[in-house]
Amino acid sequence: MSKIGIPRTLAYFIYFPLWKTFFEELGHEVVLSPATSKAILDRGVKEAVNDACIPIKLYHGHAAALAGKVDYIFCPRLVSVRSHGDFGTETFCPKFLGLPDMLRLAMDDLPEIIDVRVDLKQGKDGLWQLSQEIGKGLGNSREEIKRAFNRAREQQRQYNRLLYQEMLPLEALKIIEQKNPIPKKEKSNENYDLQVAVVGYPYLLYDAYINAGLLAILEKEKVKVYTQDIISDRKMNQQAKTLPKSTFWYFSNRVIYGALHFMQRPEIEGVIHLTAFACGPDSMVDRLLEIESRRRGNRPYLSIAVDEHTGEAGVRTRIEAFVDMLRYRRERK
Ligand code: SF4
Repeated sequence: MSKIGIPRTLAYFIYFPLWKTFFEELGHEVVLSPATSKAILDRGVKEAVNDACIPIKLYHGHAAALAGKVDYIFCPRLVSVRSHGDFGTETFCPKFLGLPDMLRLAMDDLPEIIDVRVDLKQGKDGLWQLSQEIGKGLGNSREEIKRAFNRAREQQRQYNRLLYQEMLPLEALKIIEQKNPIPKKEKSNENYDLQVAVVGYPYLLYDAYINAGLLAILEKEKVKVYTQDIISDRKMNQQAKTLPKSTFWYFSNRVIYGALHFMQRPEIEGVIHLTAFACGPDSMVDRLLEIESRRRGNRPYLSIAVDEHTGEAGVRTRIEAFVDMLRYRRERK
């Protein structure tokens, strides 16, 4: 049995149920790095190259937190999960593509890295091939891998079902983790005064440290939050058809299509885009959303960029001003 370390950031918020179940069903122990803290972020900033974006720096900090505690760090090279776009070349951003190399070059004291290439553009068998590669590398038999693979996919499907019931990932992860029965969809919004969409990369949206508690601030303001991860791929792709082109990047497309989806729902009164300072793709995504928010009914739009110096006071002030403006706008109608 091996101990596999998984950093609690980047793809964790989207694919953790799949990989956790897979490794555990193979008989290995999964060790998750602790929730992001100042110590983890500071360590990441120290280890990573200077011009990396904050999520990549943070990833280094999470990997460092696992060093010495595990036999392997699971850091797959996320290339693509589907064929999409004008040339069928939708990929993860270049930093995801080079992540295992960046990690290896930046830090000496890391355990072995499982850096399999995840490129599922060619079709459904890709995930099965990949699972065999990982399982065999860990010394498991084909039968064990098959069983773990099926169980892992089922667990991921359950997780996705919870998200599509409009549950946010952290809540859904808790339910999956505790193996609680799937609750009935909560229909009532009576505790909320406003409904707002918050779009951005999952590793920014759901990491309360890095976004200075953005979702909690909105909750306190009685704002019901929707994020792009509660929308099915089918609905997102409908939005893709309303644009002349898609971007190359998977997570960026999810942010864009999610935002466009929410812009057409009348009950959503504003859209907030949470973006990372020094993110190349976001320099385009943010501008595009700003233009589209005007074009599609002048929906109020707020962009908040976070970096390692972001403090709660700054985020709170901007959120409160935005929410006040939305309420004022509603009263004037
Ligand atoms: S998409 Fe942007 S924020 Fe995310 S890893 Fe790439 S450069 Fe960093």
